[in-house]
Amino acid sequence: MTALAGRTALVTGGSRGIGRAIARRLGRDGARVAVHYGSNEAAAKETVAAIEAAGGAAFAVHAELGVPGDAETLWAAFDARADGLDILVNNAGILGEQAEIQDVNAATFDRVLAVNTRAPFLVTQHALRRLRDGGRIVNISSVLTHGPAMPRSISYAMSKGALDVLTRMLAKQLGPRAITVNTVAPGVVDTDMHEGRLVGAALTWLESLSPMKRLGTPEDIADAVAFLASPDGRFVTGQWFDVSGGTLL
Ligand code: NAP
Repeated sequence: MTALAGRTALVTGGSRGIGRAIARRLGRDGARVAVHYGSNEAAAKETVAAIEAAGGAAFAVHAELGVPGDAETLWAAFDARADGLDILVNNAGILGEQAEIQDVNAATFDRVLAVNTRAPFLVTQHALRRLRDGGRIVNISSVLTHGPAMPRSISYAMSKGALDVLTRMLAKQLGPRAITVNTVAPGVVDTDMHEGRLVGAALTWLESLSPMKRLGTPEDIADAVAFLASPDGRFVTGQWFDVSGGTLL
């Protein structure tokens, strides 16, 4: 499939987990993919190699997010390898401290907001002059912004709630340029983000949240992103897509 032939995509956090699956899928669909990473260069190289092995084109882009100058660093690395952008996927994120409000540490709260909210805001701000008309922005949020309520995820859910608002505001602004902006909200997906906690009774409970009785896979999320990034998604904008196997039903 080459629906994205001639397009350039940037996937933040494209080196591992959900971002890796998105990068691989967009690469398979014909896009040249900038695989962004923060610290794990080996994982980014693996993802680039996997895309190339499947016949696609990709390159790695390094920038630590959530620190001063993060967006500038990212786009300087991108510009060294590419001329303009068609698809931006704001995927990089952290779970942060799992604690109810009374136990949340101010510094870790700031860190979650810096990586999950401030960074995609600034990355998108700097993307706009590079993003061609007819382009796509997909923000990876979480089903937690609409429930089920998990009080220990309050910082994380708040950080993603702001991203949901970014989607709606930007969709309105960028519509005249035929640029669509959408949110994809996964339920629980078994990735490194959970640091091995998806086992035993916790796993059974999390699986039971979906009528499909399973966790999501990175590919479940990537396929939804691929639709929004494709020409088929051209008239869908400002929307929030629950890709959680029906967790909210
Ligand atoms: P993951 O496996 O932990 O991968 C995170 C990715 O983001 C890595 O590529 C990592 O790069 C990058 N990243 C993290 N912090 C960074 C920073 N400060 N600077 C630069 N890069 C950074 O996570 P995941 O589960 O795939 O999650 C991807 C997205 O989906 C996140 O936004 C997450 O909130 C969202 N999500 C996940 C789930 C889930 O259950 N897994 C559910 C809902 C939503 P390095 O390794 O190089 O640092």
